[in-house]
Amino acid sequence: MTERVDVAVVGAGFGGLACALELAGRGARVALFEQLRYPGGCASTFTRGGHRFESGATLFSGFGEGMLFDRWIREHRLDVEVEILDPTIELRAPGLRLVTPPDRARFLAQLTSLPGAPVERLHAFFDEQRRVADALWSLFDDPSMLPPLGLRALGRHVGRLSHYLPLARLVGRTLASVLRRHGLDGFEPLRIWLDAVCQITVQAGVREVEAPFALGAMDYAFRGTGHVVGGVGELAWALARRFAALGGQLRTSDGVRTLTREGNVWRVGARRGEVLAERVVANLTPHALRRLLGRSTTALDALARDVERGWGAAMHYLVLDPAKLPRATAFHLELIDDADEAFVKGNHVFVSVSDAREDRGRGKRTATVSTHVPMRELRANADPGGYVAAIQARMSRTIEARAPELHAAIETDLTASPRTFERFTGRDHGYVGGIPRRAGLSAYRRLLPRAYLPGLYLVGDSVFPGQSTLATALGGLRVAEVVAPRALPALPPVSVRSA
Ligand SMILES: Cc1cc2nc3c(=O)[nH]c(=O)nc-3n(C[C@H](O)[C@H](O)[C@H](O)COP(=O)(O)OP(=O)(O)OC[C@H]3O[C@@H](n4cnc5c(N)ncnc54)[C@H](O)[C@@H]3O)c2cc1C
Repeated sequence: MTERVDVAVVGAGFGGLACALELAGRGARVALFEQLRYPGGCASTFTRGGHRFESGATLFSGFGEGMLFDRWIREHRLDVEVEILDPTIELRAPGLRLVTPPDRARFLAQLTSLPGAPVERLHAFFDEQRRVADALWSLFDDPSMLPPLGLRALGRHVGRLSHYLPLARLVGRTLASVLRRHGLDGFEPLRIWLDAVCQITVQAGVREVEAPFALGAMDYAFRGTGHVVGGVGELAWALARRFAALGGQLRTSDGVRTLTREGNVWRVGARRGEVLAERVVANLTPHALRRLLGRSTTALDALARDVERGWGAAMHYLVLDPAKLPRATAFHLELIDDADEAFVKGNHVFVSVSDAREDRGRGKRTATVSTHVPMRELRANADPGGYVAAIQARMSRTIEARAPELHAAIETDLTASPRTFERFTGRDHGYVGGIPRRAGLSAYRRLLPRAYLPGLYLVGDSVFPGQSTLATALGGLRVAEVVAPRALPALPPVSVRSA
């Protein structure tokens, strides 16, 4: 007889892991399917030639006291070591070097000490930014608030109304317009830093990005941001093992091939057998979900169109000579070739170098290097391979120009493209990073978890709040709130402390 579960979760990326762990913690019967041998998806660690590489995500917020990852590590006693980084990132552009420390005040002090810095305007801008970020982070960190599940959450919203006020005049506006209002549009160091931050967080530059999302995302370096020692795969595995210890079925190397609605249940057909599930949570892009269903819906088509306005990733995975590197701890660089061009296509690269302790006796270090690839351009190109190869070549030139010490340390250089991501994570065409938060009211569509078909939900970076390992995990918790069988007790809300 086919086994029955309350919830089948398809995919063990951070969205699926968070949702499955939360549901198992409440006592639900959950099966978590992952096509790969290991969990984490775009935030996982893989081995090639004996060297360990981060596959995509390398730098993680949410380890601050009381924040989600910190809470998980303590409450589930996860065997994971995290290094809070200081500096978090160093940005290098022509004529400019800025380090981002883990707190806003130190960053502001650095900006205001630059030649010609408009000190008072910078203070006023960062005051507004702090108010917006505090309002948003406390909202997203607590899965019972969006949607307000119950009277208690509604009451807390009412109590917070004054915190939401700073958001009202920003809705539908670009970050560039906020800079203009503060008289900061001519202060290039800030614009360059913001373009870099916004591109890697909310996936759009200053001129395009919706202001509240951008002002919230600016805090990502200030909210318990660090490196997972051994690679983020250690955290993904720790979460997966904890899920199994709580009674969840962890089914790695067991990709789901079909999803069929039969009466009131879903038949989930996977490589190693099938289950019947009351509800299905798909940690997939809308494209991949449509493929499994063998059909679409208007809502899935609309979501797919939004994803298609986004990005893929071009990568270099480097093996480095440790003797040529400046420090033993993990470090991150954002390198910009030309600050007047868009921060994509190899003009901007994000470089993450492993911790020297992680070489496992091989005496090397590794780096994961990424840049944004505009998927519309790629898919319209007659020679997609050549198009990506040109971007990868530009990435190498940007590294050589802005970080010659790193360039000199390269011993092996492996490349990857959106096609690699498609093959590896099952994300059709290689769309990664979620939906760019470009300005406009459409940025607020789909704030609430929803069923795309009866009992069928999505988690991951295509759905709100999307766009990072922490955000997808928070999204997974929000969906767990909605799909948890009603008889199960709600866990206490995550306690949140602002940075
Ligand atoms: C190059 C790059 C750099 C990034 N850098 C950062 C960073 O520094 N910090 C940060 O926080 N975020 C970063 N991100 C974003 C972050 O990695 C993602 O937003 C997040 O990890 C996505 O998680 P997800 O849950 O949406 O799904 P995914 O990570 O895509 O996971 C989905 C999982 O589902 C599995 N799957 C797919 N199809 C099936 C199927 N049919 N059956 C079973 N399993 C299936 C896949 O194998 C995968 O494991 C980066 C992303 C990229 C691409």
